[in-house]
Amino acid sequence: MKIGIDIGGSHIGIGLIDKDENIVEKYETDINGNNKSDNLNEFIENYILQVIKKISKEHEIELIGIASPGTPKDGKLTSLVNLGIDEFDITKIIQKEFNGKIQINNDAKCAGLAEKQYGSLKDYDDAVFMCLGTGIGGAVFLGGKELKPKRNPGFEIGHMIIKKDGILCNCGKKGCFETYCSMKRLKNSLIDVMGLNKDTTAKELLELLKERKEETEIQKILKEYIDNLIIGLSNITDLLEPEAICLGGSFVYFKDILYKMLLEEFNSRRYVFNKNTLPEIKLASLGNDAGIIGSTIM
Ligand SMILES: [Zn+2]
Repeated sequence: MKIGIDIGGSHIGIGLIDKDENIVEKYETDINGNNKSDNLNEFIENYILQVIKKISKEHEIELIGIASPGTPKDGKLTSLVNLGIDEFDITKIIQKEFNGKIQINNDAKCAGLAEKQYGSLKDYDDAVFMCLGTGIGGAVFLGGKELKPKRNPGFEIGHMIIKKDGILCNCGKKGCFETYCSMKRLKNSLIDVMGLNKDTTAKELLELLKERKEETEIQKILKEYIDNLIIGLSNITDLLEPEAICLGGSFVYFKDILYKMLLEEFNSRRYVFNKNTLPEIKLASLGNDAGIIGSTIM
Protein backbone atom coordinates (compact mmCIF):
# COMPACT_ATOMS: atom_id res chain seq x y z
CA MET A 1 0.00 0.00 0.00
CA LYS A 2 1.06 3.59 -0.59
CA ILE A 3 0.07 6.94 0.85
CA GLY A 4 -0.40 9.99 -1.41
CA ILE A 5 -0.43 13.47 0.11
CA ASP A 6 -1.64 16.48 -1.88
CA ILE A 7 -0.79 19.83 -0.31
CA GLY A 8 -2.70 22.66 -1.99
CA GLY A 9 -3.03 26.36 -1.32
CA SER A 10 -6.14 25.88 0.79
CA HIS A 11 -6.50 22.19 1.34
CA ILE A 12 -4.66 18.97 2.24
CA GLY A 13 -5.83 15.64 0.83
CA ILE A 14 -4.34 12.31 1.92
CA GLY A 15 -5.21 8.98 0.35
CA LEU A 16 -4.37 5.35 1.07
CA ILE A 17 -3.73 3.71 -2.30
CA ASP A 18 -3.95 -0.02 -2.94
CA LYS A 19 -1.92 -2.08 -5.42
CA ASP A 20 -4.44 -1.39 -8.21
CA GLU A 21 -3.90 2.35 -7.70
CA ASN A 22 -7.34 2.91 -6.19
CA ILE A 23 -7.78 5.34 -3.33
CA VAL A 24 -9.33 3.14 -0.64
CA GLU A 25 -9.31 5.63 2.26
CA LYS A 26 -9.29 9.41 2.04
CA TYR A 27 -8.64 12.14 4.61
CA GLU A 28 -9.05 15.85 3.95
CA THR A 29 -8.77 19.12 5.78
CA ASP A 30 -9.06 22.76 4.82
CA ILE A 31 -6.25 25.13 5.53
CA ASN A 32 -8.43 28.16 6.16
CA GLY A 33 -7.76 31.69 7.32
CA ASN A 34 -7.93 30.66 10.99
CA ASN A 35 -4.85 28.51 10.88
CA LYS A 36 -2.98 30.65 8.37
CA SER A 37 -0.88 32.01 11.18
CA ASP A 38 2.51 31.37 12.70
CA ASN A 39 1.19 27.96 13.56
CA LEU A 40 0.52 26.95 9.96
CA ASN A 41 3.63 24.77 9.70
CA GLU A 42 2.63 23.10 12.93
CA PHE A 43 -0.95 22.61 11.76
CA ILE A 44 0.19 20.90 8.54
CA GLU A 45 2.76 18.80 10.39
CA ASN A 46 0.29 17.63 13.03
CA TYR A 47 -2.41 16.79 10.53
CA ILE A 48 -0.12 14.80 8.23
CA LEU A 49 1.56 12.90 11.07
CA GLN A 50 -1.74 12.06 12.72
CA VAL A 51 -3.14 10.57 9.49
CA ILE A 52 0.06 8.63 8.71
CA LYS A 53 0.05 7.22 12.23
CA LYS A 54 -3.57 6.12 11.92
CA ILE A 55 -3.10 4.48 8.51
CA SER A 56 0.20 2.77 9.44
CA LYS A 57 -1.43 1.02 12.39
CA GLU A 58 -3.63 -1.00 10.04
CA HIS A 59 -1.60 -1.19 6.82
CA GLU A 60 1.94 -1.82 5.69
CA ILE A 61 3.12 1.25 3.77
CA GLU A 62 5.89 0.93 1.17
CA LEU A 63 5.93 4.52 -0.14
CA ILE A 64 4.71 7.98 0.73
CA GLY A 65 4.33 10.44 -2.15
CA ILE A 66 3.80 14.17 -1.82
CA ALA A 67 2.37 16.56 -4.39
CA SER A 68 3.14 20.19 -3.65
CA PRO A 69 3.02 23.53 -5.43
CA GLY A 70 6.30 25.27 -6.08
CA THR A 71 9.62 23.61 -6.81
CA PRO A 72 10.40 20.82 -4.33
CA LYS A 73 14.13 20.42 -3.76
CA ASP A 74 16.27 18.01 -1.71
CA GLY A 75 13.24 16.54 0.03
CA LYS A 76 11.97 19.96 1.07
CA LEU A 77 9.00 21.98 -0.13
CA THR A 78 10.00 25.45 -1.21
CA SER A 79 8.26 28.66 -2.30
CA LEU A 80 4.74 27.80 -1.15
CA VAL A 81 3.72 31.35 -2.03
CA ASN A 82 0.00 30.83 -1.49
CA LEU A 83 0.64 29.58 2.04
CA GLY A 84 3.31 32.16 2.80
CA ILE A 85 5.85 29.43 3.57
CA ASP A 86 9.39 29.69 2.16
CA GLU A 87 10.65 26.28 3.08
CA PHE A 88 9.14 23.24 4.73
CA ASP A 89 11.21 20.15 5.47
CA ILE A 90 8.46 17.63 4.91
CA THR A 91 10.81 14.65 4.60
CA LYS A 92 12.24 15.22 8.08
CA ILE A 93 8.73 15.57 9.49
CA ILE A 94 7.38 12.40 7.87
CA GLN A 95 10.44 10.45 9.01
CA LYS A 96 9.20 10.88 12.58
CA GLU A 97 6.48 8.33 11.76
CA PHE A 98 7.74 6.50 8.68
CA ASN A 99 11.13 5.20 7.61
CA GLY A 100 10.38 3.93 4.09
CA LYS A 101 10.70 5.68 0.72
CA ILE A 102 9.42 9.25 0.44
CA GLN A 103 9.13 11.07 -2.89
CA ILE A 104 8.07 14.64 -3.64
CA ASN A 105 6.96 16.16 -6.92
CA ASN A 106 5.38 19.36 -8.17
CA ASP A 107 1.56 19.10 -8.00
CA ALA A 108 0.89 19.82 -11.69
CA LYS A 109 3.46 17.18 -12.63
CA CYS A 110 1.73 14.68 -10.30
CA ALA A 111 -1.68 15.39 -11.83
CA GLY A 112 -0.14 15.03 -15.30
CA LEU A 113 1.43 11.67 -14.41
CA ALA A 114 -1.91 10.44 -13.09
CA GLU A 115 -3.80 11.56 -16.21
CA LYS A 116 -1.14 9.95 -18.40
CA GLN A 117 -1.26 6.64 -16.59
CA TYR A 118 -4.93 6.33 -15.65
CA GLY A 119 -6.91 9.25 -17.06
CA SER A 120 -7.60 11.20 -20.25
CA LEU A 121 -4.08 10.79 -21.67
CA LYS A 122 -3.60 7.07 -21.16
CA ASP A 123 -4.02 6.22 -24.85
CA TYR A 124 -1.46 8.76 -26.11
CA ASP A 125 2.34 8.50 -26.30
CA ASP A 126 2.95 12.17 -27.09
CA ALA A 127 0.87 14.28 -24.76
CA VAL A 128 0.84 17.48 -22.76
CA PHE A 129 -0.95 18.08 -19.47
CA MET A 130 -1.76 21.64 -18.46
CA CYS A 131 -3.12 22.54 -15.05
CA LEU A 132 -5.05 25.82 -15.19
CA GLY A 133 -5.57 26.93 -11.62
CA THR A 134 -4.03 29.60 -9.40
CA GLY A 135 -1.17 29.58 -11.90
CA ILE A 136 -0.41 27.31 -14.83
CA GLY A 137 1.78 24.22 -14.55
CA GLY A 138 2.12 21.08 -16.55
CA ALA A 139 3.94 18.01 -17.76
CA VAL A 140 5.09 16.74 -21.16
CA PHE A 141 5.22 13.14 -22.36
CA LEU A 142 7.04 12.15 -25.52
CA GLY A 143 7.19 8.55 -26.68
CA GLY A 144 5.26 7.62 -23.53
CA LYS A 145 7.93 9.06 -21.21
CA GLU A 146 7.82 12.18 -19.11
CA LEU A 147 10.24 14.85 -20.29
CA LYS A 148 12.52 15.53 -17.32
CA PRO A 149 15.32 18.10 -17.42
CA LYS A 150 18.32 17.42 -15.20
CA ARG A 151 18.36 20.48 -12.95
CA ASN A 152 14.79 21.53 -12.18
CA PRO A 153 11.36 20.00 -12.84
CA GLY A 154 11.16 22.11 -16.02
CA PHE A 155 8.29 22.81 -18.42
CA GLU A 156 7.39 26.06 -16.70
CA ILE A 157 4.73 26.61 -19.27
CA GLY A 158 2.92 29.21 -17.17
CA HIS A 159 5.93 31.46 -17.55
CA MET A 160 6.36 31.45 -21.29
CA ILE A 161 5.89 35.00 -22.48
CA ILE A 162 2.86 35.54 -24.67
CA LYS A 163 2.90 39.33 -24.60
CA LYS A 164 5.90 41.63 -24.78
CA ASP A 165 5.99 44.04 -21.80
CA GLY A 166 2.71 42.57 -20.60
CA ILE A 167 1.35 42.12 -17.08
CA LEU A 168 4.01 41.72 -14.36
CA CYS A 169 4.11 38.12 -13.13
CA ASN A 170 4.94 36.89 -9.59
CA CYS A 171 8.10 35.39 -11.08
CA GLY A 172 9.43 38.83 -12.01
CA LYS A 173 8.98 38.55 -15.78
CA LYS A 174 6.36 40.42 -17.77
CA GLY A 175 3.67 39.01 -20.03
CA CYS A 176 3.78 35.40 -18.75
CA PHE A 177 1.09 33.01 -20.03
CA GLU A 178 -0.30 32.54 -16.50
CA THR A 179 -0.88 36.24 -15.93
CA TYR A 180 -3.41 36.00 -18.80
CA CYS A 181 -4.70 32.46 -18.58
CA SER A 182 -4.70 31.23 -14.98
CA MET A 183 -8.19 30.54 -13.72
CA LYS A 184 -7.48 32.88 -10.83
CA ARG A 185 -6.97 35.74 -13.26
CA LEU A 186 -10.14 34.85 -15.22
CA LYS A 187 -12.24 34.60 -12.05
CA ASN A 188 -10.97 37.95 -10.78
CA SER A 189 -11.70 39.66 -14.11
CA LEU A 190 -15.22 38.22 -14.17
CA ILE A 191 -15.90 39.14 -10.54
CA ASP A 192 -14.82 42.69 -11.36
CA VAL A 193 -16.88 43.16 -14.49
CA MET A 194 -19.94 41.45 -13.01
CA GLY A 195 -19.79 43.67 -9.93
CA LEU A 196 -19.58 40.72 -7.52
CA ASN A 197 -18.14 40.42 -4.06
CA LYS A 198 -14.48 39.33 -3.97
CA ASP A 199 -15.44 36.33 -1.84
CA THR A 200 -17.78 34.91 -4.50
CA THR A 201 -17.24 31.15 -4.66
CA ALA A 202 -16.53 29.28 -7.88
CA LYS A 203 -19.95 27.64 -7.61
CA GLU A 204 -21.78 30.97 -7.28
CA LEU A 205 -19.74 32.47 -10.10
CA LEU A 206 -20.53 29.56 -12.42
CA GLU A 207 -24.29 29.82 -11.75
CA LEU A 208 -24.33 33.57 -12.42
CA LEU A 209 -22.15 33.13 -15.48
CA LYS A 210 -24.60 30.65 -17.01
CA GLU A 211 -27.34 33.29 -16.75
CA ARG A 212 -25.28 36.30 -17.82
CA LYS A 213 -22.70 34.95 -20.26
CA GLU A 214 -24.21 36.70 -23.29
CA GLU A 215 -23.62 40.18 -21.80
CA THR A 216 -21.18 42.12 -23.99
CA GLU A 217 -18.59 42.87 -21.29
CA ILE A 218 -18.59 39.28 -20.07
CA GLN A 219 -18.29 37.93 -23.61
CA LYS A 220 -15.33 40.23 -24.14
CA ILE A 221 -13.48 38.81 -21.14
CA LEU A 222 -14.27 35.21 -22.04
CA LYS A 223 -13.18 35.73 -25.64
CA GLU A 224 -9.96 37.41 -24.60
CA TYR A 225 -9.24 34.53 -22.21
CA ILE A 226 -9.84 31.92 -24.93
CA ASP A 227 -7.73 33.86 -27.46
CA ASN A 228 -4.79 33.98 -25.05
CA LEU A 229 -5.21 30.34 -24.13
CA ILE A 230 -5.04 29.46 -27.81
CA ILE A 231 -1.73 31.33 -28.17
CA GLY A 232 -0.36 29.00 -25.50
CA LEU A 233 -1.88 25.88 -27.03
CA SER A 234 -0.64 26.86 -30.48
CA ASN A 235 2.93 27.39 -29.27
CA ILE A 236 2.97 24.10 -27.38
CA THR A 237 1.55 22.26 -30.37
CA ASP A 238 4.13 23.57 -32.81
CA LEU A 239 6.94 22.97 -30.35
CA LEU A 240 6.07 19.44 -29.24
CA GLU A 241 3.43 18.14 -31.65
CA PRO A 242 1.50 16.27 -28.98
CA GLU A 243 -1.32 13.97 -30.06
CA ALA A 244 -3.39 15.31 -27.20
CA ILE A 245 -3.38 18.21 -24.75
CA CYS A 246 -5.28 17.66 -21.52
CA LEU A 247 -6.56 20.64 -19.55
CA GLY A 248 -6.98 20.22 -15.81
CA GLY A 249 -7.30 22.35 -12.69
CA SER A 250 -10.37 24.51 -12.05
CA PHE A 251 -10.76 25.01 -15.83
CA VAL A 252 -12.62 21.69 -15.74
CA TYR A 253 -15.13 23.11 -13.27
CA PHE A 254 -16.00 25.86 -15.77
CA LYS A 255 -16.04 23.49 -18.76
CA ASP A 256 -19.66 24.22 -19.75
CA ILE A 257 -18.72 27.81 -20.49
CA LEU A 258 -15.09 27.54 -21.59
CA TYR A 259 -14.50 24.18 -23.26
CA LYS A 260 -17.02 24.61 -26.08
CA MET A 261 -15.81 28.14 -26.81
CA LEU A 262 -12.22 26.91 -26.90
CA LEU A 263 -12.89 23.99 -29.25
CA GLU A 264 -14.97 26.11 -31.64
CA GLU A 265 -12.26 28.74 -31.92
CA PHE A 266 -9.28 26.35 -31.97
CA ASN A 267 -10.80 24.28 -34.77
CA SER A 268 -12.14 27.19 -36.78
CA ARG A 269 -8.90 28.86 -37.84
CA ARG A 270 -5.31 27.99 -38.61
CA TYR A 271 -3.57 27.82 -35.25
CA VAL A 272 -0.98 25.12 -35.86
CA PHE A 273 1.78 24.83 -38.43
CA ASN A 274 1.08 21.29 -39.57
CA LYS A 275 -2.62 20.84 -40.15
CA ASN A 276 -2.32 17.11 -39.64
CA THR A 277 -0.84 17.59 -36.18
CA LEU A 278 -3.84 19.30 -34.62
CA PRO A 279 -3.94 17.75 -31.13
CA GLU A 280 -7.07 16.55 -29.45
CA ILE A 281 -7.99 18.92 -26.65
CA LYS A 282 -9.18 16.84 -23.70
CA LEU A 283 -10.38 17.58 -20.18
CA ALA A 284 -8.77 16.01 -17.11
CA SER A 285 -10.83 13.11 -15.82
CA LEU A 286 -9.42 12.36 -12.36
CA GLY A 287 -10.47 15.60 -10.67
CA ASN A 288 -9.18 16.33 -7.20
CA ASP A 289 -7.72 12.84 -6.78
CA ALA A 290 -5.13 13.30 -9.53
CA GLY A 291 -2.54 14.86 -7.16
CA ILE A 292 -2.89 12.11 -4.56
CA ILE A 293 -2.65 9.30 -7.13
CA GLY A 294 0.10 10.98 -9.17
CA SER A 295 2.30 11.66 -6.15
CA THR A 296 2.94 7.93 -5.69
CA ILE A 297 3.66 7.06 -9.34
CA MET A 298 7.32 6.04 -9.56
ZN1 LIG B 1 6.06 34.30 -14.77
